[in-house]
Amino acid sequence: MLRTARSEVCGTDVHLWHGRLSGVPYPIIPGHVSAGTLESIRGPLAALDGSRLREGDRAVFFDVHRTCGRCRACTVHHTPTRCAARRVYGITDSASEGLFGGWSQYIYLEPGVGIARLPDAVHFDDYIGGGCGLLTAVHIIERAGFQAGESVLVQGVGAVGLSAIALAKLSGAAEIFAIGDPEPRLALARDMGAALTFSLSASSAAERLAAVRDRTYGEGVDVVIEAAGSPRAIEEGVQLVRDGGRYVVAGHYTDAGPSSLNAHHDINRKHLEIRGCWGSQVHHFAEAIRILEQHAATLPWRAIGQRTYPLTALNEALADAEAMRITKALVDPWRGEG
Ligand SMILES: [Zn+2]
Ligand SMILES: [Zn+2]
Repeated sequence: MLRTARSEVCGTDVHLWHGRLSGVPYPIIPGHVSAGTLESIRGPLAALDGSRLREGDRAVFFDVHRTCGRCRACTVHHTPTRCAARRVYGITDSASEGLFGGWSQYIYLEPGVGIARLPDAVHFDDYIGGGCGLLTAVHIIERAGFQAGESVLVQGVGAVGLSAIALAKLSGAAEIFAIGDPEPRLALARDMGAALTFSLSASSAAERLAAVRDRTYGEGVDVVIEAAGSPRAIEEGVQLVRDGGRYVVAGHYTDAGPSSLNAHHDINRKHLEIRGCWGSQVHHFAEAIRILEQHAATLPWRAIGQRTYPLTALNEALADAEAMRITKALVDPWRGEG
């Protein structure tokens, strides 16, 4: 049993709020990435690194559980994020089954859940500032097949895009561009490592294309990462990537509708690689913790989480997240309890 210290409101929670995800067993306890203190342990409990966990340890857990390890997705195709048995805390676990979500004072960690001790150097607010966006970004960088010296453009400066910028920088990107809104998020994007940012609303696609080509030998960037969730972003993204480059699509977690591409110009003749990126695996979780341990002191993950809400103000938190009044809302289920 984990005593929750922090959980988060992410873009998925806003979709869940509006019923936009299919197959969700409402009612649920939202909050899929969370952190806390181990309150009560039954039997010996080992962390992912093999060490023994004890009551009172600061701990975090991988929200994806019950991946079966036996189906074709898990074994033949090595794509466990597409396993049909896979479940996710706060998203696909029903409240009728127990405390499977972080918007709760306690979270039940069932047998088989991957647990890690939070390093002393990592504050709860560092971990949740990164949150699910950081785990997703670790997967994105893996999917991008990123090499030092490459140029990258990130579409979207929410939690996923901001972490993708930071990881591209740590991976040795030569130059990073970012597109998004509003200005406080663009400022965070620059703090994370973006050399040039574009306001989506204050610049045109033609201006952005010209500016990016001007700084990339007229070619466009090596890698474009889509973390925006807009069909229009896809149409622009294929223009911004160079011929023979890679385009990682990670922002369309729900069906935002079709994008219009010209197969001849945008894919075939362009020799473009388009790579989808769905969910995350336990090694992305483990790597995210190590990244925070090394870099949370110098990269502003904590600043992504701008305001912490009690359980009684979660509708307000969801509304603030949806209206982009804040970059990310955090949840402290003990706030206001005295
Ligand atoms: Zn499976
Ligand atoms: Zn999330």
